[in-house]
Amino acid sequence: MTPGDGRFILIHAEIIGLIESSVERGHPSREAGGILLGSYRGDHIEVSGFTTPYPQDRRSFALFDRIDPLHQSSALRTWQQSTGTDTYIGEWHTHPEASPSPSWLDRRTWRKLINRSHAPMVFAIGGFSDIWWGLGDVDGIRSLYEHVE
Ligand SMILES: [Zn+2]
Repeated sequence: MTPGDGRFILIHAEIIGLIESSVERGHPSREAGGILLGSYRGDHIEVSGFTTPYPQDRRSFALFDRIDPLHQSSALRTWQQSTGTDTYIGEWHTHPEASPSPSWLDRRTWRKLINRSHAPMVFAIGGFSDIWWGLGDVDGIRSLYEHVE
């Protein structure tokens, strides 16, 4: 995947599989989500790991609120085990729709995270048919969907 500016974003296949298999259908269904883990390689980003919902996360039909502290400790453990190359790199969650796009709340939440991390971040939303991918940095959040290769 590329944002069209020479940068590449490499997503490991098991992450795509995880997001696809986390989308719940029917009633009652709940959104799922977690963080994305990976590394910055020059201008490029490799997404190689993830967390899945933990018990304290808030989950409902149209909401995933990642509040369980285990996501953060998982990111810290990954960083330590990789001796500082792999880190918290983004967010994923699911939507109960075919071709998802970020909600107003998603964008507001992500902008706060970007401002805190001072680094580009990758965002994914899984739906029944498609996964929406985005890249966010201080210039804003852009959809990568049109540039899928
Ligand atoms: Zn959302």
